[in-house]
Amino acid sequence: MTPVQYIKGVGEKRAALLKKLGIESIYDLVHFYPRAYIDFTSLTPICKLISDTVGCFSAVVGYDPAEHQIRKGMTVYKTLVTDGEAGVYITVFNNRFLAEKMKQGEEYVFYGKVTANRGRLEMTNPVIEPFTEEMTMMPVYPLTAGITSNILTKIINNALPIYMEKKERDFLPDKVRQEHSLCHESFALKNIHFPKSKKEYEIARRRLIFEELFILQAGMKMLRKRNRKKTSGKIEKDCSGEFISSLPFTLTGAQQRVIREAVSDMKKDIPMNRLVQGDVGSGKTAVACCLTYVAAKNGLQSAFMAPTEILARQHFETVKKLTESTGIKVDLLVGSLTPKKKKEVKERLASGETDIIIGTHALLTEDTVFSCLGLIVTDEQHRFGVNQRGSLSHKGSSPHTLVMSATPIPRTLSLIIYGDLDLSVIDELPGGRQKISTYRVDTSYRQRLYAFIKKHMDMGLQAYIVCPAVEEGDSELTAATEYAEMLKTDIFKDYSVGLLHGKMKAKEKERVMESFSKGETGLLVATTVIEVGVDVPNAVIMVIENAERFGLSQLHQLRGRVGRGSEKSYCVLVSDAENETAGARLDIMCRTADGFKIADKDLELRGPGDFFGSRQHGLPDLKIADLTENMDIVRESRQACENLFRDDPSLSKEENKGVRQGISRLFASQKYITFN
Ligand code: ADP
Ligand code: MG
Repeated sequence: MTPVQYIKGVGEKRAALLKKLGIESIYDLVHFYPRAYIDFTSLTPICKLISDTVGCFSAVVGYDPAEHQIRKGMTVYKTLVTDGEAGVYITVFNNRFLAEKMKQGEEYVFYGKVTANRGRLEMTNPVIEPFTEEMTMMPVYPLTAGITSNILTKIINNALPIYMEKKERDFLPDKVRQEHSLCHESFALKNIHFPKSKKEYEIARRRLIFEELFILQAGMKMLRKRNRKKTSGKIEKDCSGEFISSLPFTLTGAQQRVIREAVSDMKKDIPMNRLVQGDVGSGKTAVACCLTYVAAKNGLQSAFMAPTEILARQHFETVKKLTESTGIKVDLLVGSLTPKKKKEVKERLASGETDIIIGTHALLTEDTVFSCLGLIVTDEQHRFGVNQRGSLSHKGSSPHTLVMSATPIPRTLSLIIYGDLDLSVIDELPGGRQKISTYRVDTSYRQRLYAFIKKHMDMGLQAYIVCPAVEEGDSELTAATEYAEMLKTDIFKDYSVGLLHGKMKAKEKERVMESFSKGETGLLVATTVIEVGVDVPNAVIMVIENAERFGLSQLHQLRGRVGRGSEKSYCVLVSDAENETAGARLDIMCRTADGFKIADKDLELRGPGDFFGSRQHGLPDLKIADLTENMDIVRESRQACENLFRDDPSLSKEENKGVRQGISRLFASQKYITFN
């Protein structure tokens, strides 16, 4: 990678400033795309400007900006500009250079956010450019102090030919480019920065989005192929049948299918790499349990990793119960065990005495050693990073891995996020379940709601109340604590009320959960710690306070805590929110129970951020593509990617060298990912 200093106009000082923008190499520089463009060909007359939106207009400066010193270190420049029909007040803060650009009687183009102040239109610190007839579109870059758009324009202009000259080949193979009518890279880069017209800009943009998505998907496909060394977990006997018939219930067709798919993977020489997606309550644990049983019967150890201690304990109980009469040894390893207990557990594991170990991150510590690890199951995969998933697999020699997720992710997205995994879907809920009735109420219903809960508790059933998710950790805690206290001492004083929140010690949490699963506690007030996986079939009411503050997928997860038994269940969304989107979102919850539909809606309403959550999927940053907006290009590039691998599965052909280079570039920041 050639550093930016190589470019004319970039010295040490500028290089340091550019670094703040994430630009260190020439590559970074030419891929630092404008955040917007000033389109000189479609300027808005001032009278048509809309306040609180970004606007662009041309106008003549009424007088040289007047300078006011408001206080020390704060200078304001003001002037009035007009297009002959209407005027806009321009204010410039602390930027003499920008203010002095404006000369009385000259025409300029102004670009920025329009505001209205008592009927007066204003614009503060706009982008200001002298008006010329030749100008068409001008890039507006994300900036840092000390680097102006003009400087960036110049530097990028200098960098482009050097970048193109140094680059050996296009990341996109010619064939792909031609088949999908995409422009050349040099055209694309030139016109994404300095388009002559909207049309050229669109052509450039489509090519760059396509390239990014194509390379991303190719990279994920390569990931899927890596590490396909011989596994130590190959099984000989499929004994899933005997496990299935020993269960107290009949598995659904979907559960059985997924077990079949996984067992057939485990019979192979290469490690299984499979994602099981199933809506909340679809019975993923039983599937996982069956596979760990099969592994154990083949003389292999399994690790079952859960994101929270509550869940790990719950799985431990379930697995122990389900394997009770089989002679299989199940153990639990979580952070809150005493050092002595931990040591014992680890010794049993290392000696091979333990068949199935269930735990949290504690399983990842270096001194956790297996004797013959054959299968790793990760529950609620979205809570773990790809790197964490990877670090467990070093503990065996290429063991099979199965990850389970209850976050229904729109299929198009999951193919990208989990592109390195084979996919099984549990698309059927166990029979005998009733639909969960979901209602939205405002806080005036609270008394009636409490009465409703009491009525059910009197019948021996249980309920959850999930408390406001407030931004600050502490106030969330207080809210839940105070609320529980209030319910305990007042409305529910004749009932047993428990409290569960994230700041509690593991031991305490465990006690609370245990008491709730045994039915000793009737009402559980909780923060979102219960969101994932908690399974108490006797709980039939889920009340969610300030429901508008949750994402749809999160609400769906919470709702999934009820409706797990044969009793009729309810989810009540309490919200006083008056704004339309909040209302629309809660209505979706009331109308549909299908996690995938909800996820699609969530994606539409909130964007993919939630699904990708702070890079935990190990996906590289996308510079131009947007996974929600560019769905059509996602599909088109996926097709192209499939064709590419069909033709050249290892990407070893000369014409595909560029794709490999593109992949290494795109995944460069993903340090823990290696392609081999
Ligand atoms: P999730 O997929 O959300 O993790 P769980 O594995 O926790 O779901 O299962 C939810 C509940 O359904 C559990 O109480 C489990 O025992 C029960 N269950 C699982 N499979 C079946 C089935 N085939 N028939 C009836 N109940 C089932
Ligand atoms: Mg689960």
